[in-house]
Amino acid sequence: MKCKICGGPAIVQLPHYNMNLCKDHFIHFIQKRVKQAIDRYKMFSYNDKILVAISGGKDSVSLWYILTKLGYKADGLFIKLGYDHQVKPALDIAQKLADLTGRKLIIEDATRYFYGKSVFEAAKILHRHTCSLCGKVKRYLMNKATIEYGYDVLATGHNLDDEASLLLGNILHWQTGYILRSFPVLESTHPKLAKKVKPHCLNYEKDIKTYVDLLNLPYLQQTCPFSLGAKLPIYKSLWDNLEKYQPNAKITFYKGFLREKNKIFKIQENQPKLQECNICGYPTINQTCSFCSARISLKTKIEKLNS
Ligand code: AMP
Ligand code: ZN
Ligand code: ZN
Repeated sequence: MKCKICGGPAIVQLPHYNMNLCKDHFIHFIQKRVKQAIDRYKMFSYNDKILVAISGGKDSVSLWYILTKLGYKADGLFIKLGYDHQVKPALDIAQKLADLTGRKLIIEDATRYFYGKSVFEAAKILHRHTCSLCGKVKRYLMNKATIEYGYDVLATGHNLDDEASLLLGNILHWQTGYILRSFPVLESTHPKLAKKVKPHCLNYEKDIKTYVDLLNLPYLQQTCPFSLGAKLPIYKSLWDNLEKYQPNAKITFYKGFLREKNKIFKIQENQPKLQECNICGYPTINQTCSFCSARISLKTKIEKLNS
């Protein structure tokens, strides 16, 4: 097995690109895919201040590492969703990455907004699905931190498997609103709404895993225990089955969508108008945003439990 670029011994097989690569050329290739996504979809420039949302998983760890290696001004953001002992392993990794990249790590404590409760505890009290509350809290605090700390753009670690699976799920349910939002760049449409980007969107999840392992980057292996009932893994395994027959099915589907999106779907003109939440001032389509509404319900329930 020979490296397609240098002809030396290859150690990584990439059937989805119909090539094999040696260690150095594989590492370079993954970094180049990130750079291509940044430039092709106009994510940011070298002058922009970037905030990378870092969970401690392989995707966000490698993204932060790659962005700083490429020379971008990228700091990290860790959102503390649980109690200290629950988040310590992930926070330790985020801190190690800050040391490795020499960049700043911002820590946002979600429990501060939930009367000292972890997001998982809050979901239980509110009888809400943990993943949906957790997703809401993460999106809200990522946006808030990007705006308040003066960053130009927020980057998350979503990879090709995440994006292709999300898109497939949305198409299977014809969720056209979400389909339109499945682009790897979401522009800011309000002064308090940050631009959001996904620079790993062209990289396969398994390639990212090989990348972090080859470079010995620290990362958290385990996935969130609360996401087991989520539908995304089903779509991911559907894609993996399909790739057994057509090794580039995922990337062909996703890149095709990015290319053809505007031809297939008319850009919605009647987007709901954003207004500022009457409590926190961040953009929402209702009077009170869903984050503040969840906080109000939680406060009422806690008071009831304590009375
Ligand atoms: P997930 O929603 O867990 O699949 O994570 C998707 C992306 O969101 C990750 O790649 C990170 O960029 C970001 N993210 C997830 N959890 C956190 C967290 N606790 N703090 C900061 N960013 C996070
Ligand atoms: Zn090579
Ligand atoms: Zn609000």
